[in-house]
This record gives sequence, structure tokens and C-alpha cells, in this order.
Amino acid sequence: MSNCSGSCSTCEDGNCSSRLPPGMLAQYDLEQDVSDDILVFIESDSDGNVHPSVIGLLGKARQISSGRVFGVMFAGAEGRQQYDMLFSYGIDTLYHMRNPSVKDFQPLTFAEAIADLSKRITPASILISATPYGRELAPLIAAKLDTGLTADCTRLEAEGRRLIMSRPALGGNIEATIETDRFPQMATVRPGTFPDPEPEVGRKGTAISRPYQIVSPKEIISADVPSPGTDIGSAKILISLGNGIRKRSSVENAYRLAERIGASVSCSRALADKGWMPRSAQVGQSGKTVSPDLYIAFGISGAVQHLAGLRAKRIISVNRDRNAPINSVAYKAIVGDADAILESVLRQA
Ligand SMILES: Cc1cc2nc3c(=O)[nH]c(=O)nc-3n(C[C@H](O)[C@H](O)[C@H](O)COP(=O)(O)OP(=O)(O)OC[C@H]3O[C@@H](n4cnc5c(N)ncnc54)[C@H](O)[C@@H]3O)c2cc1C
Repeated sequence: MSNCSGSCSTCEDGNCSSRLPPGMLAQYDLEQDVSDDILVFIESDSDGNVHPSVIGLLGKARQISSGRVFGVMFAGAEGRQQYDMLFSYGIDTLYHMRNPSVKDFQPLTFAEAIADLSKRITPASILISATPYGRELAPLIAAKLDTGLTADCTRLEAEGRRLIMSRPALGGNIEATIETDRFPQMATVRPGTFPDPEPEVGRKGTAISRPYQIVSPKEIISADVPSPGTDIGSAKILISLGNGIRKRSSVENAYRLAERIGASVSCSRALADKGWMPRSAQVGQSGKTVSPDLYIAFGISGAVQHLAGLRAKRIISVNRDRNAPINSVAYKAIVGDADAILESVLRQA
């Protein structure tokens, strides 16, 4: 196949064959609406460092894809340093999205750019890590593409281009397996679900630099700005707050204590729901999975959905109820008032 046709999704004018690398167009099956390819969102920070959860996701995408693996990364020039690493983990074509005015995560802008890219390359599936950013981004993309989204998957398989997505349901008691007849199929995947693959050093891929436009929200109703010290995923010590905290000043006390002992601050969903802590600090099934050496839980009951995200070596629980479920998994259970004990520990730290 040498000429581009009107159904080509790579260009707008139907004449891209002269601009594509030789042989690339032949990989497209122009007779079908959707390709067999998988697009993976490459989350990176402002220094261009790729989020660790992306590597396992790429390994899975490579394993189940019956076509190519695309990546889409938003980064400045420093993003180039990641090309070889990303190719070695299985990316065939990396779209490096560039806009010099964008320095940080912008969900509406990124969603618009990914939706626009998806309409051009028509992947069968779009995979995104279920990090706080990924969880915000994925539904926006799904809405723009008028497709479905299976959130927080813990298993992915494929039959040809059809994605078979599994995730916990009914409070984690069963695993629901979900298939959809809408394309692109979209899934967010809980970080750490898939092991990192072995890199194939020297593997080649194509990087395409692509500009994108900033999309401004019509109106900002509220902003959930993560407080410093909420990098809970990698924290060795976590001070975690639950609904048993009655005084709002205890949140401030927890951050002050965290600063003194080199900890980070996390919370249960009940406290994030109250708006006392940012959603990005939530531990559990619908929050983050954490694996600190020490987890100090103030006023947290230990609901199964909370414990689903907790892989601590040791838990110390402060709870006024000696029979609170968390005490059954705690290394030490202190029975007492959470606000008062936190205040007293801070005084002595
Ligand atoms: C689909 C689904 C997903 C969910 N995902 C998550 C998730 O990701 N993370 C999560 O945390 N939850 C999640 N939940 C909610 C979860 O079921 C619980 O409701 C939540 O974890 C309760 O938070 P908590 O323990 O802080 O609050 P509560 O259940 O209200 O418990 C408060 C605890 O504090 C103690 N207490 C009360 N007063 C004091 C005091 N003065 N001093 C000391 N202790 C005191 C109580 O004895 C109790 O043990 C999810 C639920 C569903 C249905």
C-alpha cells in the first residue's frame, strides 16, 4: 500500500504517505475503523521523570497488544532523555506533546490533546495508571471520546483488539470482568498491579513532537491543592488521619509532627470526603496503595476498603474503641482520644 486514502487517520489532507517514514503506512489496516494499537498515557513530573507505575503498564500493553504500542507524554525538552528508556519498555511510537507555556499537570488541556490524538491514531485501547492525576484525566478523555471507562483495574487481558478488564467490585468481595463494544476501550490500572518488564536495551522507536493548545476551564468552582508532605506513595513513615479526628487543628498538628520526624500525612476516605485532607492523600481501594515501614493511624476504623491500600510493615493505631477492626492488624493499639494524643506527641517531638 503506497498511497494514503481519505480514511487515513494520520493526516487531514489524505496525502501523508510522503511525510511518513517508509513502510509505516503499510502497518495500518485502512479497511477498519479502529486500529489494533494501544495508547498508554506516560505520566511524568515537571522535570520529565516518568511515574514508576508507567513501566509495568507498558509491559502489560506490550504483552496484550496485537498491534503497536503508542505512548503520549506531556513534557518539555527534558522529556527527550526518556525516549530510549520508553522504547526499551515497548513503545513503538511516542507522541511527545509540547507547549512551552505548560509547566504542570493540566487535566482539561491534556484530555483535549489526548482525545484529539486518539481521533487521529484510533487506538483500540487507552491505558492510564490510576494515580491521582490519571484518575482525573481518564474520565475527561472518555467523555470527550464518548466512550466508556473501567476504573481501577487489577487485571487486563485481550482477545485480539478486545480488552478484558477486571476490577474489584462490591467492596472488594468479588472481581468484576468487564468488556465493552465501544472504542477506544479505556481503563485505568491500579499502580503496582503489573511487574516491571525487563527492558530491551537498544530497542528502537519513533518519537513525534506534537504541539497542543491550552484549554481553560469555564469556571473554577474549587481547587484541591495537595499540601506539602503528601507524597504518600514512597513515604517510609505515614501519619494517617481518620474520621476519629474531631478537631481540624489536628490536621495542622499532623503536618507539623510529620515535618519533625520525616513522615508524610495520609488519610482515610472519610476525612478526604469531609474536605479536611486532599484526595491525593487518601489511602485505600479508591485511593493510593502505600507501603511504609510505619503507619500511625489516628482515628481510623480500618474498613476493608482502607486496608485494601495498606501494605505497612507495622501499624500503630490510636482509637478510642479497643475493638476497632484496625487494632486486629496493628502492631500496637493505643486506646484513647486521637486529637489529644496527637497533640501530646507533637509537644514531645
Ligand atoms: C467502593 C468503596 C470504596 C472505598 N474506598 C475507600 C478508600 O480508598 N479509603 C478509605 O479509607 N475508605 C474507603 N471507603 C470507605 C470505607 O468503607 C470507610 O467508610 C472509611 O474508610 C471510614 O473512614 P474512617 O475509618 O476514618 O471513619 P469511621 O468509619 O467513621 O471511623 C472512625 C474511627 O475513629 C474512631 N474514633 C472516633 N472518635 C475518636 C476519638 N475521639 N479518638 C480516637 N478514635 C476515635 C472510631 O472508633 C472509629 O474506629 C470506600 C467505600 C466504598 C464503598
